[in-house]
Amino acid sequence: MNFVFDNTYARLPSRFYARQSPSPVAGPHLVKLNQALAVALGLDHDRLRSPDGVAVLAGNSVPDGAEPLAMAYAGHQFGGFVPQLGDGRAILLGEILDPRGERFDIQLKGSGRTPFSRAGDGRAWLGPVLREYIVSESMHALGIPTTRALAAVATGELVHRETALPGAVLTRVARSHVRIGTFEYFSARGDIEAVKRLADYVIARHYPEVEGSERPYLALLDSVIRRQTRLVAQWLGVGFIHGVMNTDNMSIAGETIDYGPCAFMDSYHPGTVYSSIDHGGRYAYGNQPRIAQWNLSRLAQSLLPLIDEDQDKAIEQAQAAIDAFPELFERAFLDRFRAKLGLLESHPDDADLIRALLQAMAETGADFTNGFRALCDPADDTDDQIRSELGESTAVDDWLRSWRARLARETVEPAAQAAQMRGENPAIIPRNHRVEAALAAAVDGDLDPLEDLLQVLSSPWENRPDSFPYRFPPKPHEIVQKTFCGT
Ligand code: AMP
Ligand code: MG
Repeated sequence: MNFVFDNTYARLPSRFYARQSPSPVAGPHLVKLNQALAVALGLDHDRLRSPDGVAVLAGNSVPDGAEPLAMAYAGHQFGGFVPQLGDGRAILLGEILDPRGERFDIQLKGSGRTPFSRAGDGRAWLGPVLREYIVSESMHALGIPTTRALAAVATGELVHRETALPGAVLTRVARSHVRIGTFEYFSARGDIEAVKRLADYVIARHYPEVEGSERPYLALLDSVIRRQTRLVAQWLGVGFIHGVMNTDNMSIAGETIDYGPCAFMDSYHPGTVYSSIDHGGRYAYGNQPRIAQWNLSRLAQSLLPLIDEDQDKAIEQAQAAIDAFPELFERAFLDRFRAKLGLLESHPDDADLIRALLQAMAETGADFTNGFRALCDPADDTDDQIRSELGESTAVDDWLRSWRARLARETVEPAAQAAQMRGENPAIIPRNHRVEAALAAAVDGDLDPLEDLLQVLSSPWENRPDSFPYRFPPKPHEIVQKTFCGT
C-alpha cells in the first residue's frame, strides 16, 4: 500500500506505549484529502482516495508495515498534574520518510478506544476534525510550524456528545507526537532510565545538533526553549490563541499541536479568550509566552536527573535556562513585529514603538489582521486607510508619526518595504465566523464553503478578488464568542 513505514517509536521500550489497532467503522467516506500534502510526502493520492486507501484512513484496515500504538503521556492541565493521559482516541500507525528523507508520524485521531481512553469513547466528530484540518493547514500556509492534516474521513457512525453527531477520523501528520507531557509521564514515575531513553530519542530525531555537545540534556532543554519562543512569537504575530496550552499539548519538536478551542483574534485585545473551558483566562492571547515558560519549566524539572548528577547543580543550570526565556522570547517577539512593521534594522526604541501600536489597537479595538495589513499599502500616503483600520484616536495618530519617522531611518525603498510587509502581515486568516459557517455547512453535507475557505487560506498573503470577502471581520451578530474543544 501507499505508506512505506520506517518506525522508530515502536522500537522504544514497551512501557512507552500500548499496542492498539484502530477500531473499524461502519461506513467510511472520504470527506477531504490533502492532495498537496500527499504529494509533498511522496504518497500516491489516487490510491489514498481509492476504497483501499479510505479504509486505511478510516482505521478499517491496517496497512503493511504499520505498528499501531497509543502513546503514553501525562500532562499539566490548567496547572494541575494528571499522571496518566495518553492517546485516548489517537493511534500512531507509524512513521514515514518524505522524498527529502524527513521523518513524519502518521496518526489517526478519532480511531477508537485505547487503554488510555478512560471514560472517553475514543471517537471524534466531524466538526472538530474539520476544524483542526482548516486551522492547521492555515497555520502551515502562514509559515508557522504545525502538525498537518492529510485527510478527514466520515465514519458513517454517530458519536454521542450532548447530541448525536456524525463521527469522523482525522489523519494527522507530525514531526513527532512527543510532548512535554511524555517526559512528565516517566519523570513522575521516577523512571529516570525512560526519561533518558526519551531524551536520547528526541535528540536523535529532532535536535541532532546537540548530540555531540558537552551537556547534551541541558543543550536539549535550551534548544526546545528556543524553538518554543519562536513558535509563540509566530502565534502572536498572526493573532493565534491556542486555547489549551496544557503540557500534553506542547510538542517537543516545536510544532503547534492539538487544535481544540483554538481561534484567531479579530479585534485586538491581549486578554482575548475564546475557549469555553478557559474560565480564568489562563490561556489568553497575551498570556501565551508566560505559559510557554511555565510549561518549559515542567520539562526542565523532568530533565533534572539527566542534567547533572549533583541535583543542586542541575537545578541551577536548568533554572538559568528557564530564566533566559523572557529575554529570548522578547528577541523573537521583536523580530516578528519589526518584520510586520517593515523594520529591517533594529533600534533600541523599537520595543516601545511596537507596544505603543498594540496599546493603541487595544484601545480602539482595531481588527488585528486588517490593522497590520493596512500598514502595507505604500500608496496610502494620507494614512486614511490605515486610520480607518486602526481607529481614530490621538494614540493612533501619534503612533503613525513615530512609525513614519522610524521608517525614514530604514534604507530600503518604500515599495520594496511594502512588498516585504505583505509577506509578514497576512490578508487572510481563518476567521472564527468563517470557520464555523464552513463547518456547519459541511456537517449538513455541503462541502463547498469548506473547499472555498481552504482554497483562500492556502494563499494568506495575497489579496485576490475571490478572497476579498474573507477579509471582513464578523458583523456584530456573526461574532463567535466561544470555541469548544470538541472531545
Ligand atoms: P485533549 O483535550 O484533546 O488534548 O485531550 C486530553 C486527553 O483526553 C488526552 O489524553 C486524550 O487522548 C483524551 N481524550 C480526549 N477526547 C477523548 C475521547 N473522545 N475518548 C477518549 N479519550 C479522549
Ligand atoms: Mg491533547
